[in-house]
Amino acid sequence: MSCEVCGQDMLKANGCCGKQLRIDGKLYTRILYGNEDLSGLGFEPNVPERCGDCGCKKGFLHHWGCDLEVCPKCGRRLLSCECDDVALIVTEEEEAEVKANTEAGAGGTET
Ligand SMILES: [Zn+2]
Ligand SMILES: [Zn+2]
Ligand SMILES: [Zn+2]
Repeated sequence: MSCEVCGQDMLKANGCCGKQLRIDGKLYTRILYGNEDLSGLGFEPNVPERCGDCGCKKGFLHHWGCDLEVCPKCGRRLLSCECDDVALIVTEEEEAEVKANTEAGAGGTET
């Protein structure tokens, strides 16, 4: 099975591409598999060498759409968290666009 985003075989590739996410208009760095903050579990979780859902390796990015990816903004499962407007940033053009928009909106009202 190959990933729609990186085009690699999910069970053979190390991990996916696209290191950042745009959430609610801001850039966030994606959390690598194995780096999730699982401290709330209260025990040392068993993290297999490859993700049980998408097949990425420990220390690499989950393939996009993986059930187990954690949202860098709120720390919950990305697929079930309540953050709006989540988009994967793959190219430098997309990244530059978000930065330009962020800077244009900076210095506004902060409540
Ligand atoms: Zn992928
Ligand atoms: Zn995964
Ligand atoms: Zn979230």
